[in-house]
Amino acid sequence: MSALAEELLDGQRRALARAITLVESTTESHRREAENLVDELLPHTGGALRIGISGTPGVGKSTFIEAFGMHLIRLGHRVAVLAIDPTSARTGGSILGDKTRMAELNQQPNAFIRPSPAGGSLGGITRNTRETVLLCEAAGYDVVLVETVGVGQSETAVADVTDLFLLLVAPGGGDDLQGIKRGIMELADLVVINKADGKNVAAANHTAADYRQALHLVRSKWSGYPTDVLTASALAGTGIDDAWQALVALHQRLGDGGHIERLRSEQAVTAFWADVRNELHRLITSNQPLADYSTLLEAEVRGRRRSPSSAARRLLERYQSHW
Ligand code: GDP
Repeated sequence: MSALAEELLDGQRRALARAITLVESTTESHRREAENLVDELLPHTGGALRIGISGTPGVGKSTFIEAFGMHLIRLGHRVAVLAIDPTSARTGGSILGDKTRMAELNQQPNAFIRPSPAGGSLGGITRNTRETVLLCEAAGYDVVLVETVGVGQSETAVADVTDLFLLLVAPGGGDDLQGIKRGIMELADLVVINKADGKNVAAANHTAADYRQALHLVRSKWSGYPTDVLTASALAGTGIDDAWQALVALHQRLGDGGHIERLRSEQAVTAFWADVRNELHRLITSNQPLADYSTLLEAEVRGRRRSPSSAARRLLERYQSHW
């Protein structure tokens, strides 16, 4: 076993940080090293409850994760916080880049906060996060929280690397529900109406009732397990334990039914094919003649002079003859 793997299994934070940097590297030799490392550590992974957390900006995600994480630390858990942030791919910024957003949690020896890697495609970021989840588990973290902003495809990406998905919602009028994308409701395993404090309590209860009603009509991804709706205040620290207990209970039930193992196996196979597609794309676009040919075909497809499938076949035939 490599020295890095041993240090990581020993729970050394510096080793974990180094391993994640390796996983995030786009250098070919680093990629191979990272793959070997993850394969080596694979028997020591899978031990965490993997929770995705999403919600629109301002709903209180970082405040909630700070309160939730601190609660788990007090219960004796080791907590890792990761992020999938597609906006960082565009701007080079990152939702978790500023660790002061979780200042207290960040100081805990049993907490590990890792910003979303900047740059790269959502597919690349998702793969990095998937591998980082495994590294955190090998390093002994038994709860992994993966945060995302409530935009675009990022929820699906988070759901692809976690067991359970928590949707944070702010109290508001019933019209709010219309703003929620249907797909997210289907992904959610638990909806928490945050900011249920002070003069917001009545509005929060109202919103919770609206969500309960709406979720009634949505088939959850685990048929037979209706999505719970709770209220909480990340600021006051209320409802935090209820949310945790609800997630633990659901995870337990799903685990007993073999659902979690099946989900993780499916996620792994999906990731395998996503990697094949991404790698094929990378191989093509990083080879000049093939890249030029694909640009040409793309223009033909854009101009409706060639069908996408015909263009794809031509490109792949050229690719095959190339190697
Ligand atoms: P994020 O953008 O989703 O990460 O949201 P933040 O955690 O940064 O919170 C956005 C704002 O909402 C901040 O001003 C927080 O203080 C406030 N906030 C977060 N949680 C609560 C809560 O439970 N109650 C109240 N009243 N305000 C909250």
